[in-house]
Amino acid sequence: MKFFSLFFLILLAGVPAQAADAPAWSLVIHGGAGTILRENLDAETEAAYRAKLSEAMDAGAAILADGGSSLDAVEATIRVMEDSPLFNAGKGAVFTEAGANEMDSSIMDGRDLNAGAVAGIKTVRNPISAARAVMEKSPHVMMAREGAEKFAAAQGLVMEDPAYFRTERRWQGYLKAKEKRDADPDRKHGTVGCVAVDQAGNIAAGTSTGGMTLKMWGRIGDSPVIGAGTYANNKTCGVSATGHGEYFIRNVVAYDISALMEYAGLSLQEAAEKVVLGKLVAQQATGGIVALDAEGNIAMVFNTPGMYRGFRESNGEGQVAIFGE
Ligand code: ASP
Repeated sequence: MKFFSLFFLILLAGVPAQAADAPAWSLVIHGGAGTILRENLDAETEAAYRAKLSEAMDAGAAILADGGSSLDAVEATIRVMEDSPLFNAGKGAVFTEAGANEMDSSIMDGRDLNAGAVAGIKTVRNPISAARAVMEKSPHVMMAREGAEKFAAAQGLVMEDPAYFRTERRWQGYLKAKEKRDADPDRKHGTVGCVAVDQAGNIAAGTSTGGMTLKMWGRIGDSPVIGAGTYANNKTCGVSATGHGEYFIRNVVAYDISALMEYAGLSLQEAAEKVVLGKLVAQQATGGIVALDAEGNIAMVFNTPGMYRGFRESNGEGQVAIFGE
């Protein structure tokens, strides 16, 4: 009897779908999907990726364990990966056709669907923080190029000379891509992303990227497009994507996963698989997503040989992985 009245009360109060056995908080990240094969990754490089993925999650997990917000956790986690030359985001971004580093990023708050994004920026050290500033300090959702940079500088964000983002490895990748006249000869997407749910049950998601090698001047990918590369809604899930951005925009990938949960009643895993392994594969679109819902379910789905990824939960569960099963 007691159980039933409690159940009824919970229903009345409209408590979010935080199941009784759901972890108090969880966090999931990616560092890009693509042709990442064990035989092509030497032990030292593999260890470096694993260590950096763990370090990034440490930053977010500490905030969540302390009762902090998922937004703070997502921003802190992504900043670690942006500062690392290993990933195609912030320092280590890939080069455009014209030989520049132009970055895109977005962040979304699942509580109220508030969102912020920046596109085509060249001088903000941490694009994810610029996206968050747009969300919280401007009346807009997306700002681009010099306007976004001026705004970020006015907010006190750390600015860098464009040369800061250059790494020799990406430069060599650019030269190789140019020679082969193939924007992505290695089929690797190094975008970074994070989705978190905090102890209050609020979901946030963020994504940050240098885009695709050899992208044309002014090309914007899916990462800063809300609904394509990033989406968060407490009612359904949070999603961050990586892959061939044009397809992710056309298929509104992140929102589609949320919509399949909301309107078709699919579970997080079912929705993610339907989009990434169904729709995208049918279009030969490569990439993957990480996602979680308020019940603590985590999905890491990709249609490429590998995806840098990991998750952490308050109950001590966690993983860092790179290759497919
Ligand atoms: N999705 C990104 C873009 O198209 C690239 C990536 O994920 O690596 O800009």
